[in-house]
Formats: sequence, structure tokens, C-alpha cells
Amino acid sequence: MDAGSLSAILKRLVCPRCRKRYEGADVLFISAGDSGKALTLRCVRCRLRVRVMLPSGKRQPPRKAHPNAEAPARSKRQPISEADVLRVQRFLADFRGSMEQLLQQI
Ligand SMILES: [Zn+2]
Repeated sequence: MDAGSLSAILKRLVCPRCRKRYEGADVLFISAGDSGKALTLRCVRCRLRVRVMLPSGKRQPPRKAHPNAEAPARSKRQPISEADVLRVQRFLADFRGSMEQLLQQI
């Protein structure tokens, strides 16, 4: 991943606590694995640390929806998409409770 695409992703992410946008300087750590890259981000305003998984470089080809078929169940091995990350961010932004309560909902 080059710096341009990384900053493009960071521009779309906001801190789930205070809604400040992440910027390049907030990236603390990047690790790469089979399922993609993990970024650890720290909000410069409220210091909340968030770990996000990015999909690996290979783009999944779009699925062709069969008109009468139900949506296929997502494979557990499918990489987390940027949309998934944003969904989790929205969930965390609205969540009010302790970390213990949060983990019980997973
Ligand atoms: Zn924040």
C-alpha cells in the first residue's frame, strides 16, 4: 500500500469517540498478515487507540447476484472490507457502555 492510498483511507475514517478525522501522523503501527494489513491509529484529540484491519491488496471480484438466490453467507476467511470497518466505527460511535458490555455483544 502506498502512502497515497493510505492517506485516502485515513481521510475517510473518523475517531469513534470524538469524530476527529485520522491523519497520516496518527498511524502508530502497521502490520501485514495473510488477511491484510492492520493499522493501529491514535486519535490526536482524545488519545483513543483503534486497531483497524484493511483488506489485502487483491480486490475481490464483484459477485454476480443470481436473481432468485439468497445472498451467500460470508466466508469467515473473507478479509474485512473498508465498509466493514466503517460499520464497526459507526457501531462503536453509538455504543454506550463498558468494554465488558461491548465484548458481550460480539
Ligand atoms: Zn478521538
